[in-house]
Amino acid sequence: MQMKPETACIHAAATASKSHATGAVAVPIFQTATFAHPGFGQSTGYDYSRTQNPTVEHCEKVVAALESGAGGVAFATGMATIAAVMELFRPGDEIIATDDLYGGSIRLFNNISAKNGITINYVDSSDLSDVESAITPTTKAIFIETPTNPMMKVTDIAAVKQLISDRDILLIVDNTFLTPYLFNPIAHGADLVVHSGTKYLSGHNDTLAGFVVAKSPELAEKLHTVKKTTGAVLSPFDAFLVTRGIKTLAIRMEKSQSNARKIAEWLKSQSKITAVHYPEQGAMISFTTDTVETAQNILNKVELILYAESLGGVETLITYPATQTHAEVPEAERLARGINECLLRLSVGIEAVEDIIQDLGRTIDS
Ligand SMILES: *Cc1c(COP(=O)(O)O)cnc(C)c1O
Repeated sequence: MQMKPETACIHAAATASKSHATGAVAVPIFQTATFAHPGFGQSTGYDYSRTQNPTVEHCEKVVAALESGAGGVAFATGMATIAAVMELFRPGDEIIATDDLYGGSIRLFNNISAKNGITINYVDSSDLSDVESAITPTTKAIFIETPTNPMMKVTDIAAVKQLISDRDILLIVDNTFLTPYLFNPIAHGADLVVHSGTKYLSGHNDTLAGFVVAKSPELAEKLHTVKKTTGAVLSPFDAFLVTRGIKTLAIRMEKSQSNARKIAEWLKSQSKITAVHYPEQGAMISFTTDTVETAQNILNKVELILYAESLGGVETLITYPATQTHAEVPEAERLARGINECLLRLSVGIEAVEDIIQDLGRTIDS
């Protein structure tokens, strides 16, 4: 049945739940490692939970439906997902990646993928000519994060797709920041969409999860094979939590985005805030303060806002990219990208916006 995104968040995998004998409205947690066979050479469709588990499968179906993909595969974390995606490549392959990327992805690419013989070429993917000039005969994929982390630069996915439309190059988009509620990379030409389900999809800062959704059934099948072979699977309980979180994705995104728009405007009016990076969409904001002291004051004195890594939950969190998420980026590169000691990143939650602004205002002026 055709449904709008907010309905799909709640009902996208309804057929899977309806097939459950008890009619349970919430997906049951199948806390089992293995499944008994009805008879010789027979299977219920489930054999062993590393290969597939009904609770996890339900969650994969919801995420795949929201991203309009042919299939989705769940992993224990976002990084386990991206590491699994990298198993699609072999020594000698080249990948073009957004330069202003999540720090963990940079660590994976520079240490593990590089060791495995895969070359990563970083470009400013918001600049199409930069992407185009990096394409070589051995380019096998383009990995994009949009908006970027933490500088919020936006890449035109459809335009990147155009550049490679006649080439056998996979377009991979990390859609963690916008979520399928606000943006559908596959509709713009992406072949694979990855998510840290730890963030907005689960939405409550209470579980780690990751997903990859493939446009084609063939790619989904390949990634399913990587999952069952390498084994970093999502647990049934965590899949339950993510499924539950997704039911409120639409209203959480609406509220946190509307809060973020107001906070970005308010930050721009503050004399001690020298730059505000907000792409007019989503609920992530980064900003620079006039001095290192102002930045540290904010981190030390916030009461409602939590000084913690991560993003995408109901709680507003603030981070210091220079020493937290981006500590591993070499200093010269970090500074060139604007990630200095005055930069803070805010993940806006769903509290009353007045309370968030009051908390920030008090710390900025103190
Ligand atoms: C958090 C994050 C990841 C990694 O996800 P984990 O669940 O923490 O492993 C990847 N990409 C982006 C954009 C993220 O914010």
